[in-house]
Amino acid sequence: MPFNIACGTCRNCVAGWTSFCLRTNPTEGVDGAAYGYAQMGPYDGGQAEFLRVPFADFNLLALPSGAEWERDFAMLSDIFPTGYHGAELAGVGPGDKVAVFGAGPVGLLAAHSSYLRGAARVFVADYQPDRLVLAERFGATPVNIADGDPAGQIRDATGGLGADCGIEAVGYQAHDPAGQEHPEMVLDGLVSAVRTTGGIGVVGVYVPQDAKAATDGAKEGRIGFDFGTLFQKGQRVGTGQCPAQAVQRRAARPDHRWAGNAVAARLA
Ligand SMILES: [Zn+2]
Repeated sequence: MPFNIACGTCRNCVAGWTSFCLRTNPTEGVDGAAYGYAQMGPYDGGQAEFLRVPFADFNLLALPSGAEWERDFAMLSDIFPTGYHGAELAGVGPGDKVAVFGAGPVGLLAAHSSYLRGAARVFVADYQPDRLVLAERFGATPVNIADGDPAGQIRDATGGLGADCGIEAVGYQAHDPAGQEHPEMVLDGLVSAVRTTGGIGVVGVYVPQDAKAATDGAKEGRIGFDFGTLFQKGQRVGTGQCPAQAVQRRAARPDHRWAGNAVAARLA
């Protein structure tokens, strides 16, 4: 079951953008619905034992019987498709060097997804040592932001050019190693770490209203990141919530059993 709630027949759903369904969210001005998520409709959270699934015949994914692939399926609702979507938005392709900011579950699966799409090298930036150890076990090069500017570390490791693609897997609540919130920090880091004409995929969450934001602008969704350098470098940016179903249906095909078991293989 995807975390998105989609009707399956509106213009966006038909185009595969189930994360921006035009029908399922009655909130004025917002397309796309999800379970237990701010502004995304009157639906309770998806962490319950029982759940009502609107448009269930469209949203539910029929799984093969048996328990053999349970570990794969558990990650298909959200985390793995979101990580994959980050790599897709960034345009990761064969031979690319990729900078992933954030080594939580989405960041780690963005790194894994980048390798599935043929990336040659993946850097993962964070400051939590245990997360960086996991990133290394996924085959990525860990970049500890506590050791200094992560973009500088990534440029140094790529002959000064920067990564071909960058993935934002943190969001507006980004913190520095001292615990101070900087909503622009990761976007600035990616603009700096990615080469000219490179692609950036943003799947970390940003919101139009955040009453507890660190700056007045950020309280209204205005994140003061380095758009000037982004333009000067001719970079592309893709954003938004993942249409989980599109990734699910590829992942659940019998010949694409690469979800949890492939992750387990990386961690072995
Ligand atoms: Zn729809």
